[in-house]
Amino acid sequence: MKVHFLGTASALVTRDRDNSSLLVESGSDLILLDCGGNPAGKILYFNYRPADLNAVFLTHLHIDHCYGLPALLFHMFLEKRTTSLELFCPEEEFSALNGQLSSHDIENDVRTYSIHKNPVPLQETSALWETDDTLVYAGPAFHSRPTRAYRVIEKKSGRTVVFTGDTIPSDEVAKFAMNVDLLVHEATYLESHSDLASEYGHSTAGQAAQIALKANARALALIHFECLSGSSVEEYRSEAARIFKGRIYTPDDLSTLHL
Ligand SMILES: [Zn+2]
Ligand SMILES: [Zn+2]
Repeated sequence: MKVHFLGTASALVTRDRDNSSLLVESGSDLILLDCGGNPAGKILYFNYRPADLNAVFLTHLHIDHCYGLPALLFHMFLEKRTTSLELFCPEEEFSALNGQLSSHDIENDVRTYSIHKNPVPLQETSALWETDDTLVYAGPAFHSRPTRAYRVIEKKSGRTVVFTGDTIPSDEVAKFAMNVDLLVHEATYLESHSDLASEYGHSTAGQAAQIALKANARALALIHFECLSGSSVEEYRSEAARIFKGRIYTPDDLSTLHL
């Protein structure tokens, strides 16, 4: 299993960091988790075509997590994609998703393939999506909009990754991520701004580390950095390392972790 970080910033991007989005290779499957920024260009960077994507999972519909979707869908039409695409979105946000797609008339414009939209319910114990190589489950996350975390399991290797999307620290998220190989947890702020984290429904690096510890995660990747403060990712890493003793990553954009 490989996890490619297409973007690692929160809503405010910088020259070096785009909005958070992950591309996961699981067996022969290619999965996109969130869709801010320019995912098509970044998928090409990793020598795939966007038309190779099997499924797109949206954690929530804040703009930094979804605004690249219409352009990505249109790009795949221009690539003459023919296989249907599975698209997953929290069920409470389905009308917002439809509004986003209809404002660009995407579902009429895209004529070579079908977009299969799947609502992700609040309580789901069975797999959301299963192929010969992969299982994906949805789990809880708690934010200022309806949000889901996702757990991707590569069947052959048994490797797992959990992506929290945006969330406050939660024991329910820790339970969902139990014994995961890699927990990709948002860490928008440092502890010095824990007041902002709770006000805006986010986590600090220290809180993300607490969740990784409770989840008995093998490794923790911190992303969704608030870049306005000018804090270095080393500060995020060292804050988390005081709590979580497993491996900690603060990935750059366009970097890859092999699980
Ligand atoms: Zn965000
Ligand atoms: Zn958000």
